[in-house]
Amino acid sequence: MTKNELRKYIRMEKCKYSDGELAEMSDRVVAQLLGMKFFSAKVVLLYCPLADEVWLDESLFVNWDDHKVLLPKVVGDDLELRIFDGFDSLEKGAFGILEPVGEMFTDYDAVDFVVVPGMAFDKAGHRLGRGKGYYDRLLPRLRNAYKIGVCFPFQFFDEIPSEPHDVRMDCVVCGGLLRQTVRQKFPKPEVFDSIVVA
Ligand code: ADP
Ligand code: MG
Repeated sequence: MTKNELRKYIRMEKCKYSDGELAEMSDRVVAQLLGMKFFSAKVVLLYCPLADEVWLDESLFVNWDDHKVLLPKVVGDDLELRIFDGFDSLEKGAFGILEPVGEMFTDYDAVDFVVVPGMAFDKAGHRLGRGKGYYDRLLPRLRNAYKIGVCFPFQFFDEIPSEPHDVRMDCVVCGGLLRQTVRQKFPKPEVFDSIVVA
């Protein structure tokens, strides 16, 4: 199966679920993120979901002195990072995604927890995106970030097609019984002690 065939397949699979079911599955993903001591991370990159992506509950979007939330903004072929400054300050950008208009964030080394949406993931941490490679270009800049892919259970596979430029996740959370973690690049037991190594 090619990447594009898999993208098509996932779109069809998604149609089998009601909005309510997708919302329930999203809640389970969020619960698992919270179980990973999400709030112990200092600089977290989240995303504003498109209609068909795992919904990240508003409770995740809080800024404290020692816990900052960032969001990506599409600028040309790249994702810039900006500090989340409240839902009122978001504006629709490229692809209709809500993006922060605030201050740009360039201290890439400080980002220690990234939640990455995807169309499919596999047990080796490979990720299939929407086909533009945005996260493949962004993630190598976030050298210290623990990368968590999030998806619905039907988007998690034993193996998906991948290429050398595809950046692998350290962990994939899909809200179902499946919660595979394969790449404990730099495990931080004090922060991520609920992670189960597959
Ligand atoms: P996605 O990750 O969104 O599923 P792909 O992995 O298929 O998309 O990548 C789409 C395109 O993005 C690739 O064909 C490649 O040309 C480009 N790309 C991916 N990673 C990089 C990179 N690190 N530098 C430059 N171009 C890249
Ligand atoms: Mg890719």
